[in-house]
Amino acid sequence: MSILFTNVTAVTMDPAQPLLNSAYVSVEGTKIASVGTERPAGTFDRVVDCAGKVMMPGFVNTHTHIPMTLLRGYGGGHNLQSWLNDYIFPAEAKLDDRCVAAGTGLGLAEMIASGVTCIADMYMRTGVIAQQVLEAGISANLSCGGVYFGDPKDFSEDTCGDCRNQRALTEEWHNAGEGQIRVDASIHAEYTSSAPLWRWMADYAQAHGLRMHVHISETQSEHADSLARHGLTPIQALDRYGVWENGGIAAHCVYTTPGDWALMAAKGVSAAHNPYSNLKLGSGIAPVPAMLRAGVNVSLGTDGVSSHNSTDPFADLKLAAILHNGVARDPLAVTARQALEMATVNGARALGRTDTGVIAAGKTADLILVDFTAPNLIPCHDVEENLVFSAHGSNVVMNMARGKVIYENGTFLTLDLEKIRAEVEGYALPHMFGGKA
Ligand SMILES: [Zn+2]
Repeated sequence: MSILFTNVTAVTMDPAQPLLNSAYVSVEGTKIASVGTERPAGTFDRVVDCAGKVMMPGFVNTHTHIPMTLLRGYGGGHNLQSWLNDYIFPAEAKLDDRCVAAGTGLGLAEMIASGVTCIADMYMRTGVIAQQVLEAGISANLSCGGVYFGDPKDFSEDTCGDCRNQRALTEEWHNAGEGQIRVDASIHAEYTSSAPLWRWMADYAQAHGLRMHVHISETQSEHADSLARHGLTPIQALDRYGVWENGGIAAHCVYTTPGDWALMAAKGVSAAHNPYSNLKLGSGIAPVPAMLRAGVNVSLGTDGVSSHNSTDPFADLKLAAILHNGVARDPLAVTARQALEMATVNGARALGRTDTGVIAAGKTADLILVDFTAPNLIPCHDVEENLVFSAHGSNVVMNMARGKVIYENGTFLTLDLEKIRAEVEGYALPHMFGGKA
């Protein structure tokens, strides 16, 4: 399939030509074939006139728990620990494969409709998620978030189910769909496991060339408890066991320190900034400008819908661009461009997928069109200002993932939304919450 986009206005994230006007972008198969102001030669299977629209790379959502879409708005008004222990964990205990499939379908629909083309997800029953993602068409780094609550001296692959889950996930799904699915090694967090799992997961990651995905210093108590237990911050405690040797994603990083940032910059560990979730749970505000100055790659995530209430990446894009300005009393503490980088090219780097996040020839064709004729995007004095501060997910009118149009003008081309709704409302919600949901 070849597609030519004409009359393109684009924010490319390519330093060589960051903003395109009256341009042409052609796509061949899964790749962007050309980007420029001259119409490329040849014929195309489809020509898309982009007048009135703005193209940008698809969003890379670098920290999600996609089946938690089923928990939207559940257990609001609590801090992280009571929210998890009193609401989320009891509800999750009732999940089965069919619930996870339904919640994943719903979450994917919401993400695709709001412009996400690539995710890093951490959740249980991960093979079910992988199948749904494969069919939906976006790219994903998937992980199962290893936990171990047993006595450290009793740890073994037999006593820790997540070791077996990690093995099965890697063997069945790593590089499935010609790399559409990749598997990351994963530890849920310092406070939900102990050293034997960290060592096992680090060794496993190194043996199989996997990256790592861990919740890090999300709350003050998590950070302080790690210091009390180990004399080290969570990221440094894990580092002693080799957890970060292949780089990866440290989600949240709200209480990380300059020493943590030096480690992250040196080892290629990206901070997945989840501003909406951190604010809603009252966790705090990650020191993003300082992390950027320290050379840390900062990306954006929505976190689970249970602590965000949506997966609209424009919400986090906007928050990332305004929140730190208020904290620093500096309107340029994080610029609109920096926020766009976090949402796209930095996210690609966080996932180890440097083939995406940029509109340039040779890159994977992960791109979206935003309707700039919508009332909230008129007038347009500055395309980037409008994208960051004015747009929202419902302004997305096309989502192309891996060269395939998967969503256009409100229609899903790879998902059956009616079937997903029926599964969520007819099966998953009654199964988890009882009665008619
Ligand atoms: Zn999370």
